[in-house]
Amino acid sequence: MATVRFKAMERLLERKPVEVTRDAVCTSEYYGKLVFDRLKMKKYLSKEAFNAVVDAIDNGQTIARKMADQVAIGMKAWAIENGATHYTHWFHPLTDGTAEKHDAFIDYDGQGGVVETFSGKLLAQQEPDASSFPSGGIRQTFEARGYTAWDVSSPAFIVGSTLCIPTIFISYTGEALDYKTPLLRACNAIDKAAVAVCQYFDKNVSKVQTNLGWEQEYFLIDEALYQARPDLALTGRTLMGHASAKDQQLDDHYFGSIPTRVASFMEDLENECYRLGIPVKTRHNEVAPNQFELAPIYEEANLANDHNQLVMDVMKKVGRRHGFRVIFHEKPFAGINGSGKHNNWSLTTDTGVNLYAPGKNPKSNMQFLTFVVNAVKAVFENQDLLRASILTATNQHRLGANEAPPSIISVFLGAEVNKMLDYLETTVVERAMTPDEKTAIKLDVGRIPEILLDNTDRNRTSPFAFTGNRFEFRAVGSTANCASALIALNTAVAKQLKTFKTDVDVLIESGVKKDEAIFQVLKKYIIESKAIRFDGNGYSDEWKEEAAERGLTNINNVPESVEAFLEPRVKEMFSELGVLNEAEIDGRVEVELEKFQMKIQIEARVLGDLAINHIVPTAVKYQTVLIENVKGMRDIFSEEEFNELAAGRKELIKTVSCHISAIKSKVHDMVEARKVANKIEDMHEKARAYDKDVRPYLDDIRYHIDKLELVVDNELWPLPKYRELLFNR
Ligand code: ADP
Ligand code: MG
Repeated sequence: MATVRFKAMERLLERKPVEVTRDAVCTSEYYGKLVFDRLKMKKYLSKEAFNAVVDAIDNGQTIARKMADQVAIGMKAWAIENGATHYTHWFHPLTDGTAEKHDAFIDYDGQGGVVETFSGKLLAQQEPDASSFPSGGIRQTFEARGYTAWDVSSPAFIVGSTLCIPTIFISYTGEALDYKTPLLRACNAIDKAAVAVCQYFDKNVSKVQTNLGWEQEYFLIDEALYQARPDLALTGRTLMGHASAKDQQLDDHYFGSIPTRVASFMEDLENECYRLGIPVKTRHNEVAPNQFELAPIYEEANLANDHNQLVMDVMKKVGRRHGFRVIFHEKPFAGINGSGKHNNWSLTTDTGVNLYAPGKNPKSNMQFLTFVVNAVKAVFENQDLLRASILTATNQHRLGANEAPPSIISVFLGAEVNKMLDYLETTVVERAMTPDEKTAIKLDVGRIPEILLDNTDRNRTSPFAFTGNRFEFRAVGSTANCASALIALNTAVAKQLKTFKTDVDVLIESGVKKDEAIFQVLKKYIIESKAIRFDGNGYSDEWKEEAAERGLTNINNVPESVEAFLEPRVKEMFSELGVLNEAEIDGRVEVELEKFQMKIQIEARVLGDLAINHIVPTAVKYQTVLIENVKGMRDIFSEEEFNELAAGRKELIKTVSCHISAIKSKVHDMVEARKVANKIEDMHEKARAYDKDVRPYLDDIRYHIDKLELVVDNELWPLPKYRELLFNR
């Protein structure tokens, strides 16, 4: 009988690329077709309602209920014309993914029929049953109800037959139960702090926007093979599988020509994205076989993050149409590259200046250096927090594990910017500068090459790299909600900018000239934060040693790293900036620990099941074949011949038997370890127990299974092998 694995292979061979028809030849013709954007609002809303929404988006004004009613009517008309029958508040709970609950537009018309209705009340606020979303105890402490409230700054859109309204998700008492609320608050905090600093350089700046350009890496696995791998299906990664003889050694996949079936998936996906107004731009093969990347043009951070969450959802759906499963896990396959989601981050002013791009004159370059130095200082001060914001059960495999870069946070600046910082460090003096000195320093600062953008070196091993006009937070995991990283980063930088403003003002008040005060504070920060700057190979063992000497931290597990949120200094910072209060932080930490613990628990269960019900029986079957074979040999050979010829086979029986017993006893021990851990009440300790006492069994058991895969008859092996999973597309 053919195993599931071979049946899957047969299905795979029958696959053909799915034909894709684009909505129009030119993308610009249908771009944003399914988005209730300004153009459509202008058409469907009264002038009054339109102005109210624009004012809300641009200036954060609240929309009066009467006006919301008008918006709802216009939105409904547009949505129905475009095929929508339902609406939903769409939000980002603290799970992996987004949440939606669809309601039809219908209501009784009072005459035995129904009419389509939608109101400002339904648009503005709803009360989904929140009890099944993670809150880390926040709802128990306060009030069980949860509310979703319209995020006017992110336009509504249609998916299938449903109008989706982006919303925040909060508790009855206003505590954030989602990623979006604190992201909006953190963007607001950095806006205020950055505007105050910009005032030193340009009085016209009144708003600073955070930008995010994400790069999403992912794997595509054939649907049939995926279905034959319960570990992939249930945990998102393979818990076993011997390395394929060939994988990424030859670098022949990276930027290679895109396989036809994949190309048709990508076209279909892009078509969907363009309709949804998601500016996807770049697509290519990544380093590992069957690994790919998708990146849009950057946007305002909140919108960009909504788009990323939406894209991940759309990718899964489009993937199914093409017989693929999209794998977002950070490390789905041992031994080959994992997936990240680089967060390209910058700040721009309402005067059109990118604060992370060098300017054209000394003043704007000084501003540029101010923002760079403060970002570096913020990362230095908050290395543990930033790590905590990106380290998860799944990303833990990609950072700090075997064959993975260490989880040390450092900043790459590149030779040019480093030169400038070194220059300031050595040139700025802590006394009033002479006119000559001033002129010299201004001239030098003005000389930062405008071509810096094209000149900056790249460093693929740095977790946080300056790339000419932005920082690239590369350590973010591919499954992450970008907000998690951005909340921490924006808050840290906002706090740092506030401190900078205070430090400079103190000097100014003591009689130091503004420019000199700025230079002096920058110099101080440059010296203080030097340890975090590293341009070398972040993946090397030498860096681990050097980082330790520099006093940088290297924490590779969630239970320990997440504690960074609980430091009094960090809690104060979040609350001072109005991003997260103490209860919200405590709740989030609980949620993270619980997610971590449950993911390992699930992996342990799946591995136990596969080991005992798939692998051991297969190995026993093969063992029996070998034993029969040896018995037969004894019948036909002389004693002497038998001893010589059967020795190898007997050795093999022994090997198989040893692995079988090792697997059985280790699975038993793992279950026992789980039982002990499950009894622990305290979430912090429970997570630690799962990390230290349960997790190691996953690798231990896998070792024996992978060894068996090497010797057991290929015909009998039940699970698709790495070479099959990774080279079929
Ligand atoms: P890479 O060389 O790292 O592959 P790309 O040029 O493809 O970089 O850009 C990666 C991402 O960075 C894209 O989403 C792009 O829009 C974004 N990006 C470019 N400039 C900025 C900026 N100033 N701020 C934020 N993101 C940016
Ligand atoms: Mg990049």
